[in-house]
Amino acid sequence: MSTKTLRAAFLASALVSLASGCQSTGSERQLAQFKAGPEQACYDRATQPYTFVVDAHAHFRPFGGEAVPYSELIRYFQPAGVLFVNVFGIGQMFSAQSGCQRFSLCPTGEIKPTIRNDVINGSNALLHPNSDLHLTLSMSFADLSEPQDVMQKMDLLDDEFGPAFTWMGEVNLVKQALFKHAHRATEPAHIADWAPFMARLRAPEDGRAPMPLSIHADIGSDQAPTQYLHLMENVLARYPDNPIVWVHMGLSREQTKMDPQQHIAILSRLLDAYPNLMLDISWRVLYEAYFRHAAIRAQYVAFFNRYPTRILTGSDFVAAKGYKLRDYRREVEINSRVNQYLSDEAFRHIALGQNYFDLMGLSYRAPEICQ
Ligand SMILES: [Zn+2]
Repeated sequence: MSTKTLRAAFLASALVSLASGCQSTGSERQLAQFKAGPEQACYDRATQPYTFVVDAHAHFRPFGGEAVPYSELIRYFQPAGVLFVNVFGIGQMFSAQSGCQRFSLCPTGEIKPTIRNDVINGSNALLHPNSDLHLTLSMSFADLSEPQDVMQKMDLLDDEFGPAFTWMGEVNLVKQALFKHAHRATEPAHIADWAPFMARLRAPEDGRAPMPLSIHADIGSDQAPTQYLHLMENVLARYPDNPIVWVHMGLSREQTKMDPQQHIAILSRLLDAYPNLMLDISWRVLYEAYFRHAAIRAQYVAFFNRYPTRILTGSDFVAAKGYKLRDYRREVEINSRVNQYLSDEAFRHIALGQNYFDLMGLSYRAPEICQ
């Protein structure tokens, strides 16, 4: 083909995609595609990306040290096809007293929940308003073992930033990865004391929708597969009316060999018992240890197709300084691979974000899948 014919062919195909609303890469996704109405184009899974549009699990702040500058980080999402982002701090940082910034230098340095990240994220969001993305600011400070302090800090953030924060998490109920950093599983006695802040999350002032709570709660480990399950069950039984997101479906690097049948049976039982429970399928560990294997993946895909309205997507990207757009894109792609196998209904609800819009009471709408 001559250059001229090539150009003509390129222009023609560009016009066709414009006319049909079809897009070949994630980078072309726009918020307008998710506006309800007669104009809304259907989504063609054969030509459009399988990557998720909602990152309900993105850490804008690292455990210690510097972060990717906010103004740079918010330019990573749209090119990766992500338009809706939960702005998490991180559930714990090296304490100021520890003098630590990096895991490699502080293998046992004390890690604690902190409000520092929330203040930084809230301030950055004010400084850099953005109309190409829908950002959900999340309070990440809550120490579930010190519940008496939570309300006061919620007040502080609301006073300072107005009703800008509409989510809470990721907070740690039990995270074995941090045991060597002085974190302990939350005592059941403390869970009872969450009542005041859980009530406020359910019914925030000034008409905000109920604020979902993303909880990290390991089910157990490869040595003791259901050792900590009772903690999450305790939370769900006590607070059945709170929207709760169980991140990573309770899995972790400490539990990479759980029997999928046993895992899915536990999750199904809890999803049936607690209609406000959602699962987040973020973190590459889920891909590496589970979804990568076809026979295991098939069981999870069947499970997601059975519960298409109960699953949220995310990357679990931690924006430590030095990470680039390509690193974020890779996390999005790996965490999205399982989407390829979902039914159309599940794909629309999960990968195209309908579950997130419903949970948050947003007026966005996931496109229908083209037939
Ligand atoms: Zn996380």
